[in-house]
Amino acid sequence: MLRTRYAGVPAPFLLPESHLLHPVLEPFVRRAGMRENPRGRGERLSVAIGTMDHEFRRGMRRYIRIYPDIAGYEAMTAHVPLSSGFVNGDVSFWYRSSGVPSPGPRLDADLEADVVIVGAGYTGLWTAYYLKRARPSLRVVVLEQEFAGFGASGRNGGWLTGDLAGSHERYGQDARRLQREMYASIDEVIAVCEREGIDADLVKGGVVTVARTPSQAARLRASVSSARAWGIGEDDLRLVEPGEHLRVAGTLAASWSPHCARVQPAKLVQGLARAVRGLGVTIHERTPVTEISPGRAITPYGTVTARHVIRATEGFTARLKGLRRQWLPMNSSMIVTEPLPPSFWDEVGWQGAELLGDMAHYYMYAQRTADDRIAFGGRGRPYLYGSRVDTRGHTHEWTVEALWRLLLDFFPAARSSSVAHTWSGVLGVPRDWCSTVHVDPVTGLGWAGGYTGHGVTTANLAGRTLRDLVLGERTELTSLPWVGRKVRAWEPEPLRWLGVHAMYRLYRVADHRERSMPRTSALARFADLITGH
Ligand SMILES: Cc1cc2nc3c(=O)[nH]c(=O)nc-3n(C[C@H](O)[C@H](O)[C@H](O)COP(=O)(O)OP(=O)(O)OC[C@H]3O[C@@H](n4cnc5c(N)ncnc54)[C@H](O)[C@@H]3O)c2cc1C
Repeated sequence: MLRTRYAGVPAPFLLPESHLLHPVLEPFVRRAGMRENPRGRGERLSVAIGTMDHEFRRGMRRYIRIYPDIAGYEAMTAHVPLSSGFVNGDVSFWYRSSGVPSPGPRLDADLEADVVIVGAGYTGLWTAYYLKRARPSLRVVVLEQEFAGFGASGRNGGWLTGDLAGSHERYGQDARRLQREMYASIDEVIAVCEREGIDADLVKGGVVTVARTPSQAARLRASVSSARAWGIGEDDLRLVEPGEHLRVAGTLAASWSPHCARVQPAKLVQGLARAVRGLGVTIHERTPVTEISPGRAITPYGTVTARHVIRATEGFTARLKGLRRQWLPMNSSMIVTEPLPPSFWDEVGWQGAELLGDMAHYYMYAQRTADDRIAFGGRGRPYLYGSRVDTRGHTHEWTVEALWRLLLDFFPAARSSSVAHTWSGVLGVPRDWCSTVHVDPVTGLGWAGGYTGHGVTTANLAGRTLRDLVLGERTELTSLPWVGRKVRAWEPEPLRWLGVHAMYRLYRVADHRERSMPRTSALARFADLITGH
């Protein structure tokens, strides 16, 4: 049958199966689903270069016959079980129950304010919230290109985490104080949600990190011991027995920290937007800012003049004039399953709202949602050439497949479930992978971001710090070591693209190699070196 279909094209050739499972080739390999082949057994695979028949064994080696053709590529996600209402993109799954918000009124004339904030994600909204509560008379205006929560704040994995972005060393000795403020910020977010009546499915259930290879286990132990040097005690982070909090297949070592809460990201950002509007802040939606300069935020519909202009655009910053190389827009992608039955949760022992991460270089993150699904995320396609961002969260099929495969590898018992939604978003990564907050007292320009995937909590700390900086107050927050940090820009293209893609490719190969080695692969160290990770 296969032969008839591919008659007239170049002859098929054989490749050892192990070659195709190598991580360098793996992205091009698509498992097209278990299917009875004409001889009654085997699995049909597809690659970008052809369709494969998987049934040859010579001695100990399994070979794959490749029929050169691109038709098989079409079937590439055929084996990922998608729910009947499966959605790709449409911002994120987190808006599915409430519906993607219709943007409110845009700016329609020039305006004067005391503070204008560009971007209505967590950073912009927390800043507006704390400013207005501190000085109710302040005229605060927020400008948002789409709707409040359109960016990463409405798409993330819902880890309200106490972890700092980047390494403690880079913040200097005072990193201990910053770390404590991060832990306290989790409770601050929870307290504000209670005060403002924001129901964001928040549960402070802690975070479990698993290591599934000997080298990951070694890294996990090393990270827990080095955390001690930064004042992170046994109560903050400790090694636990594998399976103590939840059972992930193949776990060799695990750690536990209470400093993390599960949150439904969109409910948090929308609740915050409501609270901010309630305090008298106007959020102009559908209003893209095309240029920021001292005292001015310019849009196609009018210019807002203000003493302070705060940039809260994180992963989108590269699109602003003059800021293309400031923070790299890194993609992160997620899938969410259908709700899983109680028997599943009993089997894996995931009884609470613990967040789950791992120690792979190409790491994953997951949460158990309030309605008993697994929301599972990872890197996907890390970066788009020229610092482009995706379209409303649309995600490449290869990413869906890779995430699904990894999810099943973690939880084989989820095999009977299916993928209900996939989406992606961008987060901001500075050249040294550490966050910054700053207000220039002379120009009145300010910003916060570069959270490198740790923004859910950090944005709250940023909002309170920006408040103090804008109001010109010297406080405990304004002397934290991330305030006013200067970081060099990313390289121009194509170096940026090559560097990031080389790094993640090396990480994938390193993860693969580490399955059979006790220490971190030299490839991963080299990847860290070239990108300053
Ligand atoms: C898939 C994914 C998973 C993640 N998981 C986690 C996690 O579990 N925990 C964690 O801590 N962090 C996570 N992050 C990162 C975290 O979500 C972000 O760091 C955080 O939301 C950043 O908030 P922000 O307000 O600074 O930026 P954003 O939420 O991106 O908001 C920026 C806003 O600015 C608007 N904007 C941009 N440019 C302009 C312009 N020119 N004019 C007007 N408006 C503009 C955008 O539309 C957007 O609404 C994740 C990110 C992604 C993408």
